[in-house]
Amino acid sequence: MKTTIAKFDWLSAGQCPTMAWRGIRAAPTPPDEAGRFRMEQGQDVGSLARKLYPSGILVSRTDGKTTAEVTQCLIADGAIETLFEAAFHAGPFVAKADILRRQNGAWHVLEVKSSFSDTKKTGDLVDDLAYTVMVLQRSGLPVAQASLLLLSRTYRFGDSPDHLFDVIDKTAEAHARVADFESAADSLAQALFADAPPKPALVSACRDCSFFASECLGAGITHTVLELPSLHHTKLKRLSAEGIIDLSLVPADLKLNDRQERAKCAALSGNTVVDPGLSAALAAVEWPCHYLDFETVSTFLPLYSGHGCHRQVPTQFSIHHRDSIDAEPRHSEYLADATKDCERELAQALIEALGQRGSIIVYTTFEQTRIKALRDELPDLAGPLQAILDRLVDIEPIVADHVYHPDFKGSFSIKKVLPALVPDLSYADLEVANGETAIMWFARMARGEVSSPAVEVIRQQLLDYCKMDTLAMVRVHKALGELAAGNRQAVPQEAALTA
Ligand code: SF4
Repeated sequence: MKTTIAKFDWLSAGQCPTMAWRGIRAAPTPPDEAGRFRMEQGQDVGSLARKLYPSGILVSRTDGKTTAEVTQCLIADGAIETLFEAAFHAGPFVAKADILRRQNGAWHVLEVKSSFSDTKKTGDLVDDLAYTVMVLQRSGLPVAQASLLLLSRTYRFGDSPDHLFDVIDKTAEAHARVADFESAADSLAQALFADAPPKPALVSACRDCSFFASECLGAGITHTVLELPSLHHTKLKRLSAEGIIDLSLVPADLKLNDRQERAKCAALSGNTVVDPGLSAALAAVEWPCHYLDFETVSTFLPLYSGHGCHRQVPTQFSIHHRDSIDAEPRHSEYLADATKDCERELAQALIEALGQRGSIIVYTTFEQTRIKALRDELPDLAGPLQAILDRLVDIEPIVADHVYHPDFKGSFSIKKVLPALVPDLSYADLEVANGETAIMWFARMARGEVSSPAVEVIRQQLLDYCKMDTLAMVRVHKALGELAAGNRQAVPQEAALTA
C-alpha cells in the first residue's frame, strides 16, 4: 500500500473518496501500449516546454538525496531562476511542479498540458494546477502566480517550439480552488489512510470504475441501474440518494425514456426486446449498400506539413459492398502510407470505391464528421464528397431506438452490440483490436519508430482490424433484418412491458 497521496489520488478522491481509498491499496497496473504512447507524447510536450526556459535545471536524484531534497538545495541557491520537475513533500501529500520560476521573492508555478489554450472548460486543468500549488504552499513555498502552459491552435508542423505554447494565467482560479482543497485536505488524508473505505455512494465515476462490479456497489447484483443508457445525472443523483443500485428496484416514477424502458425490460426479462418500428427504420437502406468504416490518426504534436496539434487525419477505410441482405459481400480497402500526408489520396480512393448508387452504412456519426472535414479541406472534391454524405445511413440510432439485448449493458457501441447479436464473430483473435491501438501504431509508423520489416506486419494488422469493423456492420445489419422479420427470438417491446 502507498504511504503518500499523489495528484492522481487526490483528483480521484474528488470523484469518489472510496475509489481513491481502494486505488492507493491496489497493485499498480502498467499502462497498455496506447496508454504508453499517450505518456510518451506528454513527455515530448513537456520537453518542448522546457526549451522555452534554456537556463532551467531538471531536478533529478543525486548523491543519495531524494528529488524533494535536491529541490530544496536548488531553491536555496538564489542564482537558480527556473526548475523543472521540482519535487515537494508536505505531510502525506507529494507533488511535482512541471516548471517553477523565481518571481519577485516568490514563485511562479506552470503546469504543462496538452490541451488547446482556447479550451473553454478548464476546470479539471485548474484542479490539477491547484493541487500542485496546495502542496507547494504546504511545504512553505510562497506561490505568487499559477499558470497553465497549453498548446496553441495556430502552431503548425515545423514551427519553432516558441510558437507551440500559450501561457494562461490561472492564479485567481487556482488559489480559489486551493482554499476549497485546504478545507478538506486533512480529513480526506485521514479517510484515505483509515482501515475501512469511506462509505460508497453511486456517482458518475462508477460507470468507469474497475471496482464497481468486483468489490463495490455492483458486487453480487445481476443488473444495475448503470445499464440504463444515457441516464441523466439528476436521476443518477436521486437513485444514489435513495441507495438504489439494483435495476429491478428503480422506482416507477423515475420517468425513463423509451430506450431506458427497453433496456430495463430486456435486462430483467433476459429477452432481446424489439420495437415494432424496426422494420420501417431499416427500410431507409437502399441497395446495393456499402458498409464504411474509417480509422484516423491524431497526436498531440502534428505529423505532417501544414497540420496543427491534435489534427485528426483519416488514414484508412474499409468497405464491404453488398447487393442485397443475403448476397455475399465484396470488400475494398485503403491504407495510407504513414510517411506522408495522404488525405487527398484517401478521399479520391473513397469516392471511387463508393460509386454513385446505394446507401452507405456507418455506425455512429464519426465517418460523417470526417467526410465533412475532407469536403471542407479539399474544395475541388467537395461535390462528390457531399454526394457521399447524402447517402449515409447511420445504423447506431436504429439499434438504439429499436433493439435492446441484455448484454448491451447500457451501451450501443459496436463492441457491445456485435457480441450480443452476432456471438460467432469477435475481435478477440486480432492483434489490433481497438481504435486506440490502431492510432498508436499508425502514429509510430509516421514518426519512424517502427522498423522496416515490422511495417508490413503492422499494416496488415491495421487492415484486418478495419475490415472487421465493416464485417461487424454487415452481420449486425443482417441480425437486425432477422429481428425485424421475426426470424430470431425476441420479444416485442409492448409484450415485455406488460410481462
Ligand atoms: S464503484 Fe463507485 S462508489 Fe465504488 S469506488 Fe468506484 S466510483 Fe466509488
